[in-house]
This record gives sequence, structure tokens and C-alpha cells, in this order.
Amino acid sequence: MKPAPFAYAKAKSIEHAIELLGRPDGEARLLAGGQSLIAALNMRLSAPKLLIDLNGIGALAGVAVLDGRVEIGALTRHVEVERSTDILQHIPLIALALPHIGHPAIRNRGTLGGSIAFADPAAELPACLLALDGEVDIEGPKGKRTVKADAFFKGLFETALGPQDVLTAIRIPAAVKDTRAGFAEFARRHGDYAMVGLAGSARADGKGLADVRLVYFGVGPTAMRAKKAEAALASSKLDEALKALAADLSPSDDVLATAATKKHLAGVLLKRVAHQLMGARP
Ligand SMILES: Cc1cc2nc3c(=O)[nH]c(=O)nc-3n(C[C@H](O)[C@H](O)[C@H](O)COP(=O)(O)OP(=O)(O)OC[C@H]3O[C@@H](n4cnc5c(N)ncnc54)[C@H](O)[C@@H]3O)c2cc1C
Repeated sequence: MKPAPFAYAKAKSIEHAIELLGRPDGEARLLAGGQSLIAALNMRLSAPKLLIDLNGIGALAGVAVLDGRVEIGALTRHVEVERSTDILQHIPLIALALPHIGHPAIRNRGTLGGSIAFADPAAELPACLLALDGEVDIEGPKGKRTVKADAFFKGLFETALGPQDVLTAIRIPAAVKDTRAGFAEFARRHGDYAMVGLAGSARADGKGLADVRLVYFGVGPTAMRAKKAEAALASSKLDEALKALAADLSPSDDVLATAATKKHLAGVLLKRVAHQLMGARP
């Protein structure tokens, strides 16, 4: 299929993009890597009157490490994140997750901001952002604001972004000596969206773990924390964490798997990620 007709404008700056989003002549959409949006247009799931291209705004791209935090600009391509030594050193969880996003052609164009803004419930990066207790910088007609990941993902493809907002960057605390990261997902073929995935972070605390965050994706309308399992794992009780998953997760059947399969896989992934967090070989 082909998209419905639309006008195209290249934004010169973030302010210009916000101004264009406010035009009264109908629905407008921001275009970043186009890896989700163009497919939605071609299938006529979305029919904006205006596409606003962010790709000329250099200020939106890049990785910077500042005051113990890593800032990643919205327009930074997946491939740049994947190859960044700063990401490898300071956000190992994202380094583990990145190769699971689609295929190289998709990672060459797709952007970190597009993935977070799109908020696909089976996507890797929203889960990582939540597991890492990160935050999102947003610029809109009323100025700038920062939203914690916990408050950013609101529902199925629904976020804290308003109709005239631009996601400008995300910020994540840089890993320290005791930081632990674990990541696992199950997909039918490498590069497919996950049937179930799990992003985990924690701090080594003596022989155990503290600040455990376990975020599942592909099991609900948004990436979601398994808080009861987190508490059990922080007490080094993997068996209890596995039992707690029944209370934490209530997936529905979808086109990829039944709810029962997803629950089973969630347990398998928890064992793998728990071993990574505890520093053992998976
Ligand atoms: C075959 C295929 C397989 C894929 N597999 C995976 C996968 O396994 N895991 C995964 O996570 N993703 C996957 N993707 C999606 C890919 O990661 C996309 O790059 C990502 O979802 C969207 O990023 P984008 O830059 O392409 O955004 P676009 O497609 O340009 O935009 C997506 C949405 O976000 C909005 N948007 C974009 N940037 C901003 C911004 N700065 N501020 C506000 N709103 C913004 C757009 O208006 C649009 O609504 C796959 C895509 C394809 C085509």
C-alpha cells in the first residue's frame, strides 16, 4: 500500500519543529528514522497531513557523559549507540540490548528518540530506560521539562508527550563499580520483536543485590516492572522471585504467543537475567 498524501517540512531547529507541530491545518507527525512511522503510513494506520523531518537538527544527536550521567540525544541512531564506547562503558545494559533491535538496516536509520517516543510494548529501549531509572527531556510550546521513565510510559503506544512536544534526549545514571546489568529476550528469529524480554539492573551488595529493577517487555501494554520479583531477588531468593512473577505479570494472548507461553518464558528469562545480575555465567 501507499501512504495517504501528506505535506513535508524540514525542521531547522527544535523551536521550528514545535512551531510546525502547532499549525492549525491538521494533524502533524515528527519524522525521525522513519522505521516505525513510514510502515504505519504505508499501511494507512496513520494519515498525518504534515510530516516534520527532524533529521537536519544536529543538536538532537550525540552521546555525552556529564556529572555521572549519560545523555543521549533523541536523533542518535541505534547504530551509533551500539558502537559507542561510552555506552559500553557507562550503560552496559543498553549495550547488551541494542543488537536485539531489528536488523542492521533498521539500526542504521532508527533513532533512540523514535523508539522511546513510539513506546512499542515489545521494544527493548523503553524497558532499558525504565530498568535504569532514566529520564526523558521534552521541549514543547511551554518550554522544557524532564519526566522520569516511571511516569513517561502511560499506556499502549501512549506516553507523556503532548501533541506539540519534541523528545530531545534521555539521561541515565552512569554505571559505577558495583552496577550489574542483565538482558535476555526470546524472539522467533533474531531481529524480530521479542515475544517476551527482560531488562534488569542492580547493584552488587556484599554477596547479594540491591536496587534490583526487573523490567519485562512484550507482556503488557507498556514495559513493566516486576516489583515482587525484584524484592525477592534482592533477598537472593530466586525461587521466590520465580513464584512472584505470577502476581507481577498477567500477559494476554497475542499474535506471537499465548499468555501461558509468555508466562513460562518470563520465568526462563528471569533465571538467565538473575544469573547475569549475580555475576555468574548464564
Ligand atoms: C522490520 C523492523 C523490525 C524492527 N524490530 C524492532 C525490534 O526488534 N525492537 C525495537 O525496539 N524496534 C524495532 N523496530 C523499530 C525501530 O527500532 C525503530 O527505529 C523505532 O521504533 C522508531 O524509531 P525511528 O527513529 O525510526 O522513529 P520514526 O519511525 O521516525 O517515528 C516513530 C514515532 O515516534 C515519533 N517520534 C520520533 N522521534 C520523535 C521525537 N524526537 N520526539 C517526539 N516524537 C518522535 C514519530 O512522530 C512517530 O510517531 C523495527 C522496525 C522494523 C521496520
